[in-house]
This record gives sequence, structure tokens and C-alpha cells, in this order.
Amino acid sequence: MGKQNSVDHAAMRDMNISLILNTLHNESPLSRIGLANRTGLNKGTISVMVKDLLAVGLIREIGTDASSTDVGRPAIFLEPNPDAGSIIGVEIGVDYISIITVNFAIEIISRRYESTLKYISQQAIIDRILFLLKETYEQAKKNGRPVFGVGIGVPGLVDMANGRLLFAPNLGWEDVPIKALVESAIDAPVFVANEANLAALGESYFGAGQNSSFLLSISSGVGVGGGIILNGRLAEGVYGFAGEVGHMTVQQGAHAIRCNCGNYGCWETVAGRQALFSRIETAIHNGRSSWITEVIGNNMTHLSVPLIVEAARRNDQVALDALQETGEWLGIGIASLINIINPERVIFGGALISAFEFLLPTMAQTVNDRTWPWIHEGVNIVAAKHGEDASVMGSVAIVYRDVLNNPRKWLQ
Ligand SMILES: [Zn+2]
Repeated sequence: MGKQNSVDHAAMRDMNISLILNTLHNESPLSRIGLANRTGLNKGTISVMVKDLLAVGLIREIGTDASSTDVGRPAIFLEPNPDAGSIIGVEIGVDYISIITVNFAIEIISRRYESTLKYISQQAIIDRILFLLKETYEQAKKNGRPVFGVGIGVPGLVDMANGRLLFAPNLGWEDVPIKALVESAIDAPVFVANEANLAALGESYFGAGQNSSFLLSISSGVGVGGGIILNGRLAEGVYGFAGEVGHMTVQQGAHAIRCNCGNYGCWETVAGRQALFSRIETAIHNGRSSWITEVIGNNMTHLSVPLIVEAARRNDQVALDALQETGEWLGIGIASLINIINPERVIFGGALISAFEFLLPTMAQTVNDRTWPWIHEGVNIVAAKHGEDASVMGSVAIVYRDVLNNPRKWLQ
């Protein structure tokens, strides 16, 4: 070992502690010896760092390792301490706010969900978010453990370095300094990112993407968003704009529908929730009979994804056709993305997840038809484990990732 200056030494120590925490996240429980084997760090280093992590309560000891060969002195298992602290995840949806608090074992401790349809202005929604967040934060602090941070997902472009929402076409918001606003209300680190990118991160850490290093995550709802995990890391792009798959142009000419972003023929205009609704509306408008009209008459403002799914379960041909066409358009975009990314898994989430069973057959068939077998073989399209919570769990994940990768600030 050569001489190291103290800066290098501190950086090395941080890297090793982070490696230990990440390993315990992936494989706990592990003994100290198990940790040494997995990380390649020597037992002395492990011992010192585990002591530090135990002292601040980030990890805890449990049980004994029966497989230990060290007879007479059984090893003790280590795992992240569920009570180490809490994380607050927020999703600002197009028409709702969702907030969850989880412990360090990522078990949901509390949950708030509110429609924002009653608020008439952007300011009113932001005021409400800040109010709910303050309440949630005060509640989380009550157990005396740290609040590791607040993650916030928004349906738009985010300048991640500054936590600024630049443009959210489906909300109609532009240039909102979300991180600064929230930091003025509560005393915890704040992270802001695109909701679909966060969904990918959340599924990668805690969901259908665990143990998979190359993932494509698609969220289809009011908008269509994407997140890409390459080599185990979220592809953020230079400024955090990567994954805006909903605005790939897939149609041109007279058929192209105007998107909320201002462009024409974006993927979300044919593969999002509104596209599904429009297909139902058009069929009914053209005089096709459907069980749906028995429920809501001709008032198409009452259309919903659960209603369409219920109709499909009753073998309603209008619903089945609309879902099939939507599945085909989803498949067209996913096929292109699979060609680009070569993922091992595609995770599907967002508001359309409740229709997954009806979307999947055509989605998968279209992907098979439009990609080479070498590329699509072995790629499964699976539902997001956290369903409609995928984004808010992603908001949790961005904070969790920060704790795991930068544990120093919690070690004082
Ligand atoms: Zn667009």
C-alpha cells in the first residue's frame, strides 16, 4: 500500500461504507465474514465500518449464522435497520398528490392521497403539497430518528441539479423551483426528478427490476413516460431529461394527433390513457353497442380505466378492441426501445396497469413481430410490482440511493 493523503483516505472510507450498505441492501442478512466475501474488503475494515454503522443505527445485528464454521463463536447477521430513519416519497400527479412515508426497510408507515381536481390554480396545489409535506415531516420526526430526505416525482422535465421543474405539459406548469420551495418548508434533503425515471429507479431497487441491470420501464397514464436502467444505474442524461419516450414521434401527416407538448404524433397520443378513452368514444359515437353505455350512458367524461377493464372482463367487444389497439401502439414503441436498449426486462406501470392482462397479449405480439428473435427472446414484459405506487416508490428510492451512496452525512 502506498501513502495516501487524508482526502483519498476519507474518500476510500466513504466508498467502502457505501459498498457495505449497498451489499446489505442487496443480500442481507449477511455475517461480517459474508460481507468480507461479497465485497472483497478485509475483515478488519469490515469490522471497523460495521461498528460505525451500528453506532448510528443504520444497520442492526440479528440472530446468529448457523452455517458459520467458526465453532464456539457463532457469527451474527447484519441487515439494514428498519428503524434507522424514515424517507418521504411524493408524487405530484396530473390530478393528484400521493405521499408515503417508509422506514429504512421500505415498509410503508403512512400514506396520504388526494385528488387535486378541486384546486383551481397551480399555486393552490403547491400550497396544499407544502402543507401536507410539513404535516408528514413533523409526524415522521416524532420517533426521534432522522428523516433521510424527501423525494418528489413530477410529470415533466426536471433540472435535477437544481430541483427545478422546467416543463410539465400535462400539468401546464413551467419553471417551478420545487426543491427550493420544499426546502423552505422542511429541514431535510430534497430530490426532484421525473416520475417515470423514478418509477424505473424504484422498481430497480425494490420491485420487479431487482437483480436486473438492464431495464426499460414504461409508465402509461395521462402521459407516457419511460425510465432506463443501464448497468444497474438510472440513465439520466446530461441534464436529467433521458427517458422522455412519450414524445417520440410515431405518426405524421393527417392522422397525427396534437400532443400536450405542442408536437404532433407523439407516442403518448396513441399509447396513453386518453388514446384508450378516445377509441372507446369513437366506437360508441359510430353506433357500436357496448356495456359501457349501460353504465355511464353517453357521458364519456365518466370513462375510467377500471370501467373499461370491467367491460373487457364481460367480453365487451368495444372495450376489447380499444385495449387491443392500445396494446399494439404500446408494443410499437416498446419494440423500438428494445432495439435501442437491449434490456433484459420491460416493466409496465402507470394508470393503465390495471388493464395489463388485456394489453399484454398484443403488446408482446407486436414486440415479437417487430424485433429480431435474438433481441426479443428472453425479454419479459412484466407489471410494475408497485403498480400505481411505482412513481412514489421511486421518489423513496432516490433518497434511499443517496443514503446508500453517501452515508457519511448520517454517520456523525
Ligand atoms: Zn409530445
